Amino acid sequence: MPRFALRCRACHTVSAAPDAYACAECLGPLEVSYDHTLTGEALRDAIRSGPTSLWRYAPLLPVATVPDDPVGWTPLVRADRLGRELGLDELWLKNDTVTPSFSFKDRVVAVAAQRAKELGYDTIACASTGNLAGAVAAAAARLGLRAVVFVPATTEPAKLAAVTTYGARLVLVDGTYDEVNRLVGQIAEERRWAFVNFTLRPYYVEGSKTLLFETAEQLGWRLPDALVIPIASGAMFVNNAKAAGELVATGLVADRPLAFFGAQPAGCAPVADAFASGAPRYVPVKRPQTIAHALAIGSPADGNLVLEIARRSGGAVEAASDDEIRASIALVARTAGIFVEPAGGTTVAALVRLAERGLLPRGGTVVAYLTGNGFKTPDVVPLDTDAVVRIPARLDAFEDALPEPPPTVAGRELAEVR
Ligand SMILES: *Cc1c(COP(=O)(O)O)cnc(C)c1O
Ligand SMILES: [Zn+2]
Repeated sequence: MPRFALRCRACHTVSAAPDAYACAECLGPLEVSYDHTLTGEALRDAIRSGPTSLWRYAPLLPVATVPDDPVGWTPLVRADRLGRELGLDELWLKNDTVTPSFSFKDRVVAVAAQRAKELGYDTIACASTGNLAGAVAAAAARLGLRAVVFVPATTEPAKLAAVTTYGARLVLVDGTYDEVNRLVGQIAEERRWAFVNFTLRPYYVEGSKTLLFETAEQLGWRLPDALVIPIASGAMFVNNAKAAGELVATGLVADRPLAFFGAQPAGCAPVADAFASGAPRYVPVKRPQTIAHALAIGSPADGNLVLEIARRSGGAVEAASDDEIRASIALVARTAGIFVEPAGGTTVAALVRLAERGLLPRGGTVVAYLTGNGFKTPDVVPLDTDAVVRIPARLDAFEDALPEPPPTVAGRELAEVR
């Protein structure tokens, strides 16, 4: 296991407490910093001989022991048909719709929950827009912990049903995610629970790095030229930049320019708006209005850092309307066979816009993260009745209904996104 410490992002003071989240000196956010003794080929060997889960990267994660908890190592899919439509030569999709609770949140919770166990907690908790609640509830069930989750009362019903089925206590709060978050901050003062995305946030965000660790290994130990990443709090975005730095620093990949592109829904796009206007800081959105509930955070904790990284790396942050999000869910389903929730639709819609504006490297390696499963949000895309026939159970009825080979849909998709 690596040696690590919690260090202040602002003043670089090392925290004495292992479960602090704010700097005792300046109240700045704490992050995990490592002293990597294992590097280069020896590190690659250790990773290669590890489990086929995110725990193969334990030498790069803040845990003392490796649990038997299979999360991660999701497929990196070459998406040539979608790439052709967008004029991209080498497009890959990181398919994080196929994790234990069907969203990327299983990664961050895996690390936070393991650390919570190591620090002696028996209850894990969170404020969530839906997916995190499911991931916390599922992890608690796998690891034998208790779970209490707090969500806006407007969260998608399919996500909530999973939470209580996993055996967690569910608290519905009448308010936005930011209001839920504020309440949870107060509750954390009085309950000794591991609030994975608050009191254990320094560990939690480290789980996001495994998306890029896996991507780099799956590409044959190299960095892509561009990443397209959905933004809720911005933690995934910021920590994938951290991951790129650690991959280079430990000699796992060669250093090369990597452009970071972000995706937000237009109905909650504080970071994309600031990017477009050239502002150094974002203006919070009070009342998010979007079908992409998983990305509906009006005051993203890492929003300003996202702006800085997008600008510095030659990337951008793009917003997509709900109509574009819906059309993009269909686009990636038809061209790559992956059914995503609106967060994934937002990412693909941003990919389409960025490709059309010529901001992505055409001949380069482009990777987009698809972070949540469409079966969690079935109401977003209605049944396409044009594609349906209903017939009596007779062969002649079938032949009458479908006399020709079924009409091809190729080429129809992109027109709908525009
Ligand atoms: C939480 C979430 C994200 C992004 O999370 P960050 O808070 O920005 O790290 C992206 N996609 C889905 C589906 C999510 O649930
Ligand atoms: Zn500090």
